[in-house]
Amino acid sequence: MVQKGETILVEKPFSYVLKSTQRTTRCDYCFFQRELKKCSKCQYVYYCSQNCQKLAWYLHKLECDNLRKVFPKTIPDSAHVLIRTILKLKVIKVKGHTHDAEKNRSFQDLMSHCTEIKKDERRMDHFFSLLIILHSFFGEDEVPEKDFIFELFGKMCINSFNICDKYMNSIGTGIYLNASIIDHSCDPNAVISFDGTTIVVRSIQNIPDVRWENIRISYIDVLNVSKNRKAELNSMYYFLCDCNLCKNETNDKLMNSMICPDINCNGYIHIEKSSKEVTCNTCKIMIEKEKIRQYFDIVVISDYHLKNMKNKEMAYINVCEMLLKKQGGLFYELNIYRIRILDLAFEECIKLQRWNDAIKYGIQLLPGYKKYYGFYHPLVGLLNMKLLKLTLLKNDLNEARQYFEEANEIILVTHGKTHSLYRTLHKILYE
Ligand SMILES: [Zn+2]
Ligand SMILES: [Zn+2]
Ligand SMILES: [Zn+2]
Ligand SMILES: [Zn+2]
Repeated sequence: MVQKGETILVEKPFSYVLKSTQRTTRCDYCFFQRELKKCSKCQYVYYCSQNCQKLAWYLHKLECDNLRKVFPKTIPDSAHVLIRTILKLKVIKVKGHTHDAEKNRSFQDLMSHCTEIKKDERRMDHFFSLLIILHSFFGEDEVPEKDFIFELFGKMCINSFNICDKYMNSIGTGIYLNASIIDHSCDPNAVISFDGTTIVVRSIQNIPDVRWENIRISYIDVLNVSKNRKAELNSMYYFLCDCNLCKNETNDKLMNSMICPDINCNGYIHIEKSSKEVTCNTCKIMIEKEKIRQYFDIVVISDYHLKNMKNKEMAYINVCEMLLKKQGGLFYELNIYRIRILDLAFEECIKLQRWNDAIKYGIQLLPGYKKYYGFYHPLVGLLNMKLLKLTLLKNDLNEARQYFEEANEIILVTHGKTHSLYRTLHKILYE
């Protein structure tokens, strides 16, 4: 029996790389942000201490010369993960054992889904572009066989984790031999977090029979309808999700719903393109055709702008506010388009230091986050933590207390007392 909030697994990566965009701001070995010194030979990687440099040397010495030739260009992250994995396997082979230290699983145990990948044009294009990079990196005499690299590529695609900082920003990629055994659910009973490069898996509910096959984490962002979640999982990991949320499409109705026009009714109206007659789930009032048409028009506009902002990796606050205004009085508070736009508007207002608006959007965002991510989720903890900071800026101590309590309750379960996010949370309150 594992209790809610207990650690299930703590594991160092088999191989990993820091994102190239973080190269000069974080230590290549431990990922912490401290004062850095670069490797004097390659000028490519940076370390926070002599100790980290020493610990990294067993592997870095095999890439240092080649990295020097690449510099000042950078290697794409996925190519670098492959390179480090090849080198790590080389080191292990020389040491005479295939198992990595005291790990239960070996690299050979990882799934590679080679058959599916061969049929996947997008992945094959990626593979051939990586192959060219690896040939020029290692040189024709040193580069491993194509089939061997393909096997590693498959294992990397299926088993890599995005390593995140405590604020859930991706800062690197790692392959974890044990953590990669854990299956996916859109309604998981465990969550992952990172402490530097170490992955930590913790339970978010009591798990009576704690075997690997009973533990589930989420591989994707679950803020999506089941049809899209399934498509994403199938294209990334080649399986069809049959978790409870996907099987009976729970939540999908809420994600596509309109608010009841009767202001005294708290109901919602589920709307689909095919539905001819739609009524409120609570008061059973019938919705006029004109309203439904209006709803779909705004869905189309919202979807267009969301995709556009995602492609540009930029949110425009005036676009978000225009959409929220159009959705107002029509979209249910748990409607997925509303939540996604509130999410962007919230982050943009923080960047622009528009604190009052940020609080307004953050408060509207909370119910959706809790509903779809589940209460014990790092992102729900972080949202409460951001609202805590914002309300403190406004000296609203009663409100702040409430966000602190909730963030504290969540982070104790998802991260635990020893994680730096827990300390950060308590520091905010006492400063
Ligand atoms: Zn370091
Ligand atoms: Zn070097
Ligand atoms: Zn699912
Ligand atoms: Zn109603």
